[in-house]
Amino acid sequence: MTRVHNETRYPEHEVAELVRFAIDRSRVDLAEVKVLPEALPDEPTKPPGRGWVDPLANGTCRITVMPKSHSYLRDYNGPEFLRGSAANPFPVYAWQDWRESLVHLVAHECEHVAGERDESRCERAAVATLEAYQAERTP
Ligand SMILES: [Zn+2]
Repeated sequence: MTRVHNETRYPEHEVAELVRFAIDRSRVDLAEVKVLPEALPDEPTKPPGRGWVDPLANGTCRITVMPKSHSYLRDYNGPEFLRGSAANPFPVYAWQDWRESLVHLVAHECEHVAGERDESRCERAAVATLEAYQAERTP
């Protein structure tokens, strides 16, 4: 059972449900997910939210979600490190709100905890989970 520490002002039950949605579609379980208040990136082309695995405790990750009322389109106009290579490109996606950023970022970090080191592969798995979430939300 994953411990979810919600340090945002978003509702506990909703944050926990979104974390669960992402973990249930991954190959691993996570020991702990800490969801932190949003912070805007220092460059506008970077995603407005990020995730990272605790280097001292694999299976524990931290997520900062996208700020409320923001949206984000990740396309091929961003910085080179977010584009991947021609043979292994990063996928294109859009976040409509903080919920989608949370599902995506948890799914991405699950891939790292499962042992994946290729960012492009982590992103493709995360976008598949994001799209499953978006499909469920759309009536
Ligand atoms: Zn990554």
